[in-house]
Amino acid sequence: MSNNELLFQRAQKTTPGGVNSPVRAFKSVGGTPRFIERAQGPHFWDADGKQYIDYIGSWGPAILGHAHPQVIDAVQKAAANGLSFGAPTEGEILMAEEICKLVPSIEQVRLVSSGTEATMSALRLARGATKRDKIIKFEGCYHGHADALLVKAGSGLLTFGNPTSAGVPEDFTKHTLVLDYNNCEQLQDAFAKYSDEIACVIVEPVAGNMNLIKASSDFLKTMRDLCDQHGSILIFDEVMCGFRVALGGAQSVYEITPDLTALGKVIGGGLPVAAFGGRAEIMKHLAPLGGVYQAGTLSGNPVAVAAGLTTLKLIQQADFYETLTSQTSKLTAGFNAIASKLGVEMCADSIGGMFGIYFTKTIPTSYAEMMQANNASFNKFFHFMLDAGVYLAPSAFEAGFVSITHTDEIIQQTLTAAEISLSQLA
Ligand code: PMP
Repeated sequence: MSNNELLFQRAQKTTPGGVNSPVRAFKSVGGTPRFIERAQGPHFWDADGKQYIDYIGSWGPAILGHAHPQVIDAVQKAAANGLSFGAPTEGEILMAEEICKLVPSIEQVRLVSSGTEATMSALRLARGATKRDKIIKFEGCYHGHADALLVKAGSGLLTFGNPTSAGVPEDFTKHTLVLDYNNCEQLQDAFAKYSDEIACVIVEPVAGNMNLIKASSDFLKTMRDLCDQHGSILIFDEVMCGFRVALGGAQSVYEITPDLTALGKVIGGGLPVAAFGGRAEIMKHLAPLGGVYQAGTLSGNPVAVAAGLTTLKLIQQADFYETLTSQTSKLTAGFNAIASKLGVEMCADSIGGMFGIYFTKTIPTSYAEMMQANNASFNKFFHFMLDAGVYLAPSAFEAGFVSITHTDEIIQQTLTAAEISLSQLA
């Protein structure tokens, strides 16, 4: 038995499913999860000593590649001064200043420890500030696992949602309206029907949780206009796409200004930092200034902030996003060329350092279209690639991530593996 298999057996005795976050369990692709021992740059190594080119990058944070020496140094220095104080530090101010500088729609920001906390708190803030209950989300967007957001569309058009998880009372989701991504008409109908009852619309402006699906400019613009007309708050969940698709996030790419933004992943550089922020006029409703409660023992943790702040500085180096974007498009252009050469029904798309591989005829624009993908082919492709030393997201419904350390040579190695893998599928 391999070390990975032994570890997986052992893990399942003390941890449900053997993992601390479900997608790690390889449930949809089958097989044994790889237990990672160490990582450097674009690579990681599993418990059997096998090397992989990593395309999940810790699901987004590892934009600089793994174990960047300056980030590790900052973490070590911060750790030597103590791990957590429960009192404010200057590092938190520096981090907030950096975020406000890079994302101009954020006038004030609060640090938290996970994306779930960021979106959950932004939602509570939007409801508290508007004194309204109803919220709109979109099918296929994931915003963490707060109760009100674990919802799928209701049975009728424009009826309120049903829980997608056991343990979420229907009462907790009865204010959440779930609409189709990229569907402007449904948005207009929803606002026509519920008008000034809607506290907020929350959206991934570039969706990365139903594979990569880009919003149309029209869709986001319609959302912005309707929120303005009806006094609702627009929340961009940029936990994944923030500092990933561009330095100023998806909002800078689409040139649409949300009222609130949730951030995570890249801003922690691999340690638990997330944030939510936006217009000061809304943020002032938060405790201790206002009546919306929100708190965290480890919020703004000094070691995590040191990793985050160093990462935020390093991504501002000249040409960082040009390079990241061009490496990622070389990868997806290569996938597309190989698929068409071999006649495999597969395509790829990217934005910034984020990409999608779809076993569909054309690039999907909604959850329903993504659901048409050929999962059996993806699963085979995933395992061929894994055997060849390329670690893709272990699910057809997840996006992939490229780091600044994915050089031409690494991309070429990946494409060589893809050509061999896809020819086995053809
Ligand atoms: N929002 C988005 C867009 C995400 O991609 C994620 C995590 N994948 C979350 C929120 C939740 O973040 P976390 O896992 O840190 O709680």
